[in-house]
Amino acid sequence: PVDRSPEIQEARLKLPVLAEEQVIMEAIRENPCVIICGETGSGKTTQVPQFLYEAGYASGSGIIGITEPRRVAAVSMSHRVAKEMNLSTRVVSYQIRYEGNVSDETKIKFMTDGVLLKEIQKDFLLQRYSVIIIDEAHERSVYTDILIGLLSRIVPLRNKKGMPMKLLVMSATLRVEDFTENQKLFRTTPPVIKVDARQFPVTIHFNKRTPLEDYTGEAFHKICKIHRMLPPGEDGGGDISEEMRKFKKAKQKKTVSLPRIDLDNYSALPVDEEEKADPSIPLYVLPLYSLLAPEQQAKVFRPPPSGTRLCVVATNVAETSLTIPGIKYVVDCGRVKKRFYDRVTGVSSFKVTWTSQASANQRAGRAGRTEPGHCYRLYSSAVFGDFSVFSEAEITRRPVEDLVLQMKDLNIDKVVNFPFPTPPSAEALVAAEQLLISLGALKQPPCTGRVKEIERGRLSCPITALGRAMASFPVAPRYAKMLALGKQQDCLPYVIAVVAALTVREIFEDHDRPAHSQDESSKLTQRRARLTQMKRLWAGQGASLLLGDLMVMLGAVGACEFAGCTPKFCEENGLRYKAMVEIRRLRGQLTNAVNAVCPEVGVFVDPKMNPPTEHQVVCLRQIVLAGLGDHLARRVQAEDVLDPKWKNGYKTPLMDDPVFIHPTSALFKTLPEFVVYQEIMETTKMYMRVRVGWQLP
Ligand code: ADP
Ligand code: MG
Repeated sequence: PVDRSPEIQEARLKLPVLAEEQVIMEAIRENPCVIICGETGSGKTTQVPQFLYEAGYASGSGIIGITEPRRVAAVSMSHRVAKEMNLSTRVVSYQIRYEGNVSDETKIKFMTDGVLLKEIQKDFLLQRYSVIIIDEAHERSVYTDILIGLLSRIVPLRNKKGMPMKLLVMSATLRVEDFTENQKLFRTTPPVIKVDARQFPVTIHFNKRTPLEDYTGEAFHKICKIHRMLPPGEDGGGDISEEMRKFKKAKQKKTVSLPRIDLDNYSALPVDEEEKADPSIPLYVLPLYSLLAPEQQAKVFRPPPSGTRLCVVATNVAETSLTIPGIKYVVDCGRVKKRFYDRVTGVSSFKVTWTSQASANQRAGRAGRTEPGHCYRLYSSAVFGDFSVFSEAEITRRPVEDLVLQMKDLNIDKVVNFPFPTPPSAEALVAAEQLLISLGALKQPPCTGRVKEIERGRLSCPITALGRAMASFPVAPRYAKMLALGKQQDCLPYVIAVVAALTVREIFEDHDRPAHSQDESSKLTQRRARLTQMKRLWAGQGASLLLGDLMVMLGAVGACEFAGCTPKFCEENGLRYKAMVEIRRLRGQLTNAVNAVCPEVGVFVDPKMNPPTEHQVVCLRQIVLAGLGDHLARRVQAEDVLDPKWKNGYKTPLMDDPVFIHPTSALFKTLPEFVVYQEIMETTKMYMRVRVGWQLP
């Protein structure tokens, strides 16, 4: 029996999914796999785990597991469900990459899809669970896709062994054909239960014209207009919301367009001379994006200060995974910022492109949760007609070597034959196998160059012992290789720190963003100067210099840890606090993983790590090169430069065009003959990210 508070009980009764409880539970009783489709906000994520709990699915030895593609959702949903059920977070818990509150009392466990995939590696039958819910399947994240493929095999296996298990796939928009009409995936088509959303009508307003450049400025004007002219969303509580979707980066780059929303002091009222907002109700502006600190993220769920009107500026985190209460107006710029990856050259770039019709409709839907709403699309209906109907599954857009290695470790040798909901291209699979062979993670096939046969699924390269060790590290294969080699010359603590830093997004604060005021501008200039000075210090001297940007990272991690990893230290020294905390946790986690594979090394996280010795620097360079051996670039010598575009340029094996060392790099001035890079990012130029220097004697 669950003891819920009367307010919670009342709020639950309003959720559409509650009306379907019996239908859902009956379908689950009678079928091993069930698909639940329902609009965002209908109560799937928060309620279905409770149905299962109340039906006794967690009363035996098995527990209820729910996977989320986003960490934010795993954490916040576990808290929400614990609160609704009046249970401790020891019972309703979460686990994400490096943190969690799972205990031996846990009955409902929210986790990221990556966490469950790791658990499958340890126990293929997932015997701890009586039910697995794959949530947000419409997001089509790579891990979600793989999990569905694996679970389509695990569920029948469990039944055969007399330990039945249930699989639930929950999804927002209705593109379930990839799951249902895929004979490779489910031999018997699972039932699809549709939950009708209690959705109020949303009036869609298209722009007459479509601004191609300054859409953030357009969004700003639209918000001011809504704020001036239109009534609040909810009366009484001052709990009024409107939402503007855009991308943090775009916003930061476009100085002129959004000069008044200051991300560091965002509760300030953005007012402009000619764009007078109603002074009697100040606008309370909150940002929402995944890199934002969790305490800040949590603010959007709380009522805004009384007498203010809430405006959330969000990335597509708010599109489906989080439901912000009481939104009445949505301003949709129609864009999405996506990472693009060139399969041949490996060049990555972030591009802002048009979103899909399904996503745009999803965004609009967020305005009609509590009463009829409005969605302002900053593009014309003709442009909308040209959007693709659905967004592509992520698996078709990124390299897959990490997945291939994980699958090989699960002894799925012929990856080409795996029941992917949407298979990656054969070309991407072959590229992944080849990289893994070159890293020593897979056995060389008996005869090289038999690409066609790998493609056809006839040939497969089995995993090596090194590959198994690599697969046990929670990082991409290139970095796993570095860890596997780290034992030499007592380099492990450094390799762990380096790998942790390399796999975290952006460790340095971005001071190049536009300032919102004179005052801020001078502050940014100061901070930029300070960071430059610190980077020089962290880069070290003598041999250390040859580690280039890696030494800077090592120095930053070491200094930050030495200072106790405080927000103050990070802010003063231009480090992103959230990244540093992530690195700290990851160091702990990687240290445990390494000790588990080779207990004899007995490595530990030393908060007072000395800089590496000259000898260790040499060793570290070799270790890094072993993981990034194909990411080598050679400087084009001045005397060979015929075309000016090659000035200071580097030549890589696969590209015809030059790549460059970014001005923020420790090697920008030295321009060594050889550099090893982490990846190539195309921004204003082709830039190499994280460089390690190399000068031939
Ligand atoms: P779905 O998974 O179908 O999108 P959810 O179960 O996430 O729906 O949300 C159901 C309702 O619970 C939503 O109306 C949302 O506003 C509310 N809700 C979810 N999380 C919170 C929270 N942290 N605080 C307050 N309300 C919440
Ligand atoms: Mg949900």
